[in-house]
Amino acid sequence: MHDVASHFSGSYAEARRKFLDAAADRQARVESFEMPQHRGALGETLAMDLARLGPADATKLIVVSSGTHGPEGFCGSGCQVAMLRDDDLQRRLADAGLGLLLVHAVNPHGFSHLRRVNEDNIDLNRNHVDFSRPLPVNPDYAAVDGLAIPATWPPTAADGAALAAYIAQHGVTAYRASVSRGQYAVADGLFYGGQAPSWSNRTLRAALRRHGAAATHIAWIDVHTGLGPRGHGEKIYPGRPEGLPLARAWWGADVLAPFEGNSASPDVSGPVVSAVYDECPQATVALMGLEFGTLPDMEVLDRLRADHWLHRHPEAPEAQRRAIRQSLREAFYGDDDAWKGMILGQSRVVMLQTILGLQKAG
Ligand SMILES: [Zn+2]
Repeated sequence: MHDVASHFSGSYAEARRKFLDAAADRQARVESFEMPQHRGALGETLAMDLARLGPADATKLIVVSSGTHGPEGFCGSGCQVAMLRDDDLQRRLADAGLGLLLVHAVNPHGFSHLRRVNEDNIDLNRNHVDFSRPLPVNPDYAAVDGLAIPATWPPTAADGAALAAYIAQHGVTAYRASVSRGQYAVADGLFYGGQAPSWSNRTLRAALRRHGAAATHIAWIDVHTGLGPRGHGEKIYPGRPEGLPLARAWWGADVLAPFEGNSASPDVSGPVVSAVYDECPQATVALMGLEFGTLPDMEVLDRLRADHWLHRHPEAPEAQRRAIRQSLREAFYGDDDAWKGMILGQSRVVMLQTILGLQKAG
C-alpha cells in the first residue's frame, strides 16, 4: 500500500526512478530513449521512457503520456506511477485484454530544467504540424511579443500600462489566445512551434507507429497542468471535430473542445496527440488533454513570461534565475497532498471510463 504523495517526485531524476521502479515491479516491457546531446539540471541522463503492459498484439490500446510540457510532468508522472501501482486497475485492464502504453517525460529536458518548452524553446504541443506545408500564421503574436516579454523583468510601470492598454482594447481572452495559440515566427518567443519536428516529436511518433500498428481503437490521454481551477481536471478534446461525439460518449458531457470555445484552452495548432492521425491511421481514436489547474491562469501566464524573459537574458543574476525557475515549478505543480489526491482521484476515474469505453467499442 502506497500513500498518495509517494507516487509524486521532487525532481525529474526522482520521477524517472519511481516510474522505472514501478514499471519493473509490474513487469512492464520498458524502452528508454536517451537524449543524445543533453543532460539534466543535476547532470542526469535525460530520456523518454516507455512502459508497455498487456498483449503485444492488443487491438485496443490506451496511451497515457506525461511531461509534454516539462514540469507538468510532476503531475503526469505521479498519475502514471499510481496507475502502475494500482492492482485493481491493472486487473481490469488485463481482464479486458487491453494494451497500456505509458510514455514518461515526452519533454525530459524541460521537465528536468523546469521549462515548459523543450531544449530549443519549442512548445511540443505546437510542434506537431505538417512542416512540408505552409506553417500556421498567428498574425496577432508580433504585437504582443514585446508586451509579454519586455526588456526588463519585473516589468516597469510603463510596461504594465502598455500591456493593460492592449488588454483593455482587445480583451483578455484575445490577449491570451494571441500569445498562446502557437506561433512559428519568433524562435525565442512564447508558445513557439518550431521549424521542424523536434527530437521528442520524432521519438514519440516512432514509438506510436510500433505500439499502435495492431490497434483498431486507441484512447490517448496526455496529462497537463496550469489551466483552470486548482485541482480540477478539465477534459480537453484536442482532436478533429468528427471524433468529439466518441470522446463524450466515453468520458462524459464534461469533455470540452477548444474549437467550441468553452475550454480553458485556446484552439492550438499542432498538439502532440494529433500524431495518432498520421501514425495510426487505421485506428478509431479518442483523445484527451487532461488539464489540472494549479494557480490562476493569468498568474501562470505571467510566470511563463518571466521564464521567456530569462531565456532572452542569460546574463540575469543567479538569485533571479533561481527565483524564476522555482516560480515556474509552482505554476505547474501543486505540490501539496490535497492537490495530489484530487489529481489521482480524477485520473483514475478517467482510466475507468476509458476501460469501459474500449470494452464497448467494436
Ligand atoms: Zn500543458
